[in-house]
Amino acid sequence: MSAIDGLPPLREVIRAHGLEARKSLGQNFLLDLNLTARIARAAGPLEDCDILEVGPGPGGLTRALLAEGARHVLAVEKDPRCLPALAQIAAAWPGRLTAIEGDALTIDPRDHLTPPIRIVANLPYNVGTELLVRWLTPPQWPPFWRSLTLMFQREVAERIVAQPGTKAYGRLAVLAQWRTQARIALRLPPEAFTPAPKVSSAVVHLDRLDAPRFPADATVLSKVVAAAFNQRRKMLRASLRGLAPDIERHLRAADIDPTRRAEELSVAQFCALAREFADG
Ligand code: SAM
Repeated sequence: MSAIDGLPPLREVIRAHGLEARKSLGQNFLLDLNLTARIARAAGPLEDCDILEVGPGPGGLTRALLAEGARHVLAVEKDPRCLPALAQIAAAWPGRLTAIEGDALTIDPRDHLTPPIRIVANLPYNVGTELLVRWLTPPQWPPFWRSLTLMFQREVAERIVAQPGTKAYGRLAVLAQWRTQARIALRLPPEAFTPAPKVSSAVVHLDRLDAPRFPADATVLSKVVAAAFNQRRKMLRASLRGLAPDIERHLRAADIDPTRRAEELSVAQFCALAREFADG
């Protein structure tokens, strides 16, 4: 028995509900309650917050979020097999967990949540990256969430916090560092998961800034950054040619040398370029 919530150990839950991990759903479960508690704590103070948890699976992290005091957890899970296990957790924490079956890529969870909202997820890596970019690039800022605490393949985590001039610096770093304060909160070896994936993982914690570090339109900035890093070895005057025929004029107007390469540009310079494009 787990001391905190009186629920059975996760291995037993998995056995009882037939939750053998499915590769197609990117299922690598966290069964160590010490580890799930550390991730829940990395999300920040939870008492006054609603939590959106994406991909709860058998509910290890869900249980930790509740035990760490989350006001309310909305858990969105694509695999219907997990719902009975999640219902058991909801019964142990009356009124504090709502579990729904759904695809995080298509569902809009905001109706079920009351601010302040923190998002926590251990998701398949491809889904996690797509959601991260969406959460970082809404047209208006601040967004509906206060913080993101997300598990990634370690290499992707390093990209989110990377600095200019490094190999890891790219689209994710610029978009994340433009509007949030991002840091790696925890590094995990493959053996932390059941089954163990091939690669190491890391939890990234991103606190939203009240306002972006530099003004820019999210759509224009995303486009500029994607084009620049798509051909990261080329000079900007070549990699960005597709965006405007007179690209050198735009670059010079933003005070950027057209012979520089994408990885040499700071977030401030990318924003200056996006503003220059938006102004025509
Ligand atoms: N959070 C659990 C844990 O830490 O043990 C499970 C982690 S497992 C890596 C990813 C979970 O996300 C699985 O339960 C999977 O079914 C679910 N999932 C995959 N794609 C999803 C999607 N598009 N929307 C919601 N859940 C998804």
